[in-house]
Amino acid sequence: MTRRLVPRSAEPDDPAIREAAACLQAGGLVVFPTETVYGLGADATNARAIAAVYDAKGRPADNPLIVHVRDLDDAAQVADVSSPSARRFAERFWPGPLSLVLPATALGSVASRGRPTVAVRAPSHPIARALLVAAGLPLAAPSANRSGRPSPTTAEHALAELDGRVALVLDGGSCRFGIESSVLDLTVDPPRLLRPGGVSLAVLRQVDPHVSPGGDAARSPGTRYAHYQPIVPLIALGPAVSAEVAERLVLVLDGPDAWMGTRAMGTATLVERVTADAVAHHLYADLRDLEQDHATLIVRLPDVEHAVAERARRAASWTFDSDDEVTAWIRARTPRSSALEP
Ligand code: AMP
Ligand code: MG
Repeated sequence: MTRRLVPRSAEPDDPAIREAAACLQAGGLVVFPTETVYGLGADATNARAIAAVYDAKGRPADNPLIVHVRDLDDAAQVADVSSPSARRFAERFWPGPLSLVLPATALGSVASRGRPTVAVRAPSHPIARALLVAAGLPLAAPSANRSGRPSPTTAEHALAELDGRVALVLDGGSCRFGIESSVLDLTVDPPRLLRPGGVSLAVLRQVDPHVSPGGDAARSPGTRYAHYQPIVPLIALGPAVSAEVAERLVLVLDGPDAWMGTRAMGTATLVERVTADAVAHHLYADLRDLEQDHATLIVRLPDVEHAVAERARRAASWTFDSDDEVTAWIRARTPRSSALEP
C-alpha cells in the first residue's frame, strides 16, 4: 500500500521528490530521510494532516511535533525567530541536528496544536532540503516509527513501522547520525537542553555558556515516555565496566551455562563499536536486528559526552556502571554463579 520511491537526484524537480511534494501539498503523509533519523512528514499548516500524523504513529496527543524548514526565513512563518539567541543558534547549527523551541506564530500553533511554543529545525539532508523546496511548505515531521518504537534509520525500517499508514517513503539510504536532534528551549532563560541529540551540550555552550542541561517532563513531553522499551532486553555497560567482565556477561547469558529464566534472553550480542558516533549510527538498527533474533543486546557506552549514552540508558532494561554491579546482578539471578567465580 505504501510506495517506496528512490530519488535519482536530491533536486526539487526529481520525479520522486516532485511526487512526494504533491502528496504533502494534498495533505498526505510522506516519510523522508534526514541526517538524524527518518521523519514522518506532513504539511505543518494543515490541521488534518497533523492529526493524521498522530494517528499513523499512535503518538500521545500531548507530545508535540518538530517542524522542519529550509532556513531561518522560513522558520519565521511558524515561529518568532527575532530573538538574538534564535539567530545565533540557527546561524551556527542550521542546517543540522538542532531543534529550537520558540514562541509559535498563529500558523505555527497549527503544528503545535495550540501550544504557545513550537519546535523548529532546518535539516541538512539533501533529500529533505529538496523536498522542503519542492513542497514549499513547513513540514511537521516526528520520527517515522510507531510511538514507543525505535526511530527508523533506513527506509526499510520506516516501512516496517508504517507500511499501509503513509502514502510514500522516500528512500535516501541510511541516516548519518542515527539518533534524533537535540531539542533546545529558547523560550526560557537560560536556554535549556530538553533532549540531548546530534549537537552536544558542550558545543551548544560554545554559543551560550549558560545553556542548562536536562529536560523536565512538563516542558518536553517527549522525555516522559520510556522510548524503545521493551523491544529487546538491552544491557547498557558504562565505560568503567572492564572488557573482561563484559565478556563474562556474554558468556553467562549466551554460553553453555546459559541460565536466564526468560526465553527472550537466550542469546546475547555484545556490541562494541569504536567511536561514539558509530554506536549512535547503529544503535536503533542493532535493536531491530536483535528483535528479530529474540536476543539480548549488550551495548558498551562511550566514554565521551554523547547523546547515544542517554538513548541507550533510557532504552536499557539494566545499566551497569561498574564491574561490581555486573557481578552482583549475575549472582542475584544465577543458581550457580560458576561462570564468574575464579
Ligand atoms: P520526535 O520528533 O519524535 O523525535 O520528538 C520531538 C521531540 O521534541 C519530543 O521530545 C517533543 O516533546 C519535543 N518537542 C516538540 N515540540 C516541542 C515544544 N513546543 N516544546 C517542548 N518540546 C517540544
Ligand atoms: Mg520520536
